[in-house]
Amino acid sequence: MPHPASDELAIEVRNVSMVYGAGASAFTALDDVEVAIKENEFFTLLGPSGCGKTTLLRLIAGFSYPSGGDIRLHGQNIAALPPFKRPVNTVFQNYALFPHMTVSENIAFGLAMLKRSRTEIRDSVDRMLKLVQLEALKDRKTAQLSGGQQQRVALARALAPQPKVLLLDEPLSALDFKLRKEMQIELKRLQHETGITFIFVTHDQEEALTMADRIAVMSAGRILQIGSPREIYDRPAERFVADFIGETNFMQADVLSSADGMAEVALPGGKRIPALVAEGFRPSGQVSIVVRPEHAQIVEAGPEAHLTGTLENTVYFGTDTHFHIRLDGGRQFILRRQNSRSAAAAPQNGTVVGIRIDDGAAQILKD
Ligand code: ATP
Repeated sequence: MPHPASDELAIEVRNVSMVYGAGASAFTALDDVEVAIKENEFFTLLGPSGCGKTTLLRLIAGFSYPSGGDIRLHGQNIAALPPFKRPVNTVFQNYALFPHMTVSENIAFGLAMLKRSRTEIRDSVDRMLKLVQLEALKDRKTAQLSGGQQQRVALARALAPQPKVLLLDEPLSALDFKLRKEMQIELKRLQHETGITFIFVTHDQEEALTMADRIAVMSAGRILQIGSPREIYDRPAERFVADFIGETNFMQADVLSSADGMAEVALPGGKRIPALVAEGFRPSGQVSIVVRPEHAQIVEAGPEAHLTGTLENTVYFGTDTHFHIRLDGGRQFILRRQNSRSAAAAPQNGTVVGIRIDDGAAQILKD
């Protein structure tokens, strides 16, 4: 049975800060972080290396304690609880399995530590083996398994004590591309079937977009935006988010008027288009706007075009083609078109082309 995310909160991180070291060498790894994660949610922490993802995960797990703020689990402050007393389990990047033990023994390990009865351990191991589809390999030593199989054992071991929350720190980064894709689907299925809240750390934006119910985008110890993959991709609140998630075209434009979440802007070259405005923001003067590469079309240079430039480069990607256009004025604009048998022939490199931005596709950034 699938377990949809409920409105109950599993984890609340309130005004949490984390400072490593002291005095002149003090380093703020988390700066007033605030996030509420719902029960049964697949929640992803996404950001570049060093932004504080692992630090936040370690605080939730109880491996370290925040310098300020508090962390609540189902409404209860868990600051004083040591890791083993928290209904939280962690899957690490390097699995940390016991190589000399069998698959079953690895899965049973945590349960034995918790002093569960022999029957309970046996039933639980059987259930986990089935869940991760490793029944056939239960007596194999984990050193004799493939990377993907080892990852599944690590997951089964972490899920066996039925934690309320499972923390996953880049668990797929050691796998090759194809296996990684398979495991992404597998993880999503496991989360759905068990109804356990997953907090998944990654620096891979595509992984976050495909797996998460909601994403928190982090940079330099702060959470910049929290939203569904679609919200984060379609309505990035600031430049960093727009730039980090997918490809984006940035341009300067002049605001002519604005009201109720929309503005009219003049693009370089003078053409006027409507642009979306983030909630609570009143833009004026010169602003940055973003347009996703798949939200614009190549048209003839002429009155229909919003921008004009020279097609410099055409890159074929199988499912789609990317066009690199050098705008009059020097900036590059990337445009992406899906390939299909009926798609119009692409213009030759070196041709002067027009760009038409789709209705509602341009967005003004707050920065
Ligand atoms: P990655 O994706 O590379 O694992 P991350 O986003 O998980 O990065 P963290 O491991 O949380 O980042 O580290 C955040 C920042 O805090 C980094 O700049 C790191 O160098 C610093 N840091 C982490 N642990 C310590 C420590 N024990 N002492 C001092 N600084 C630390």
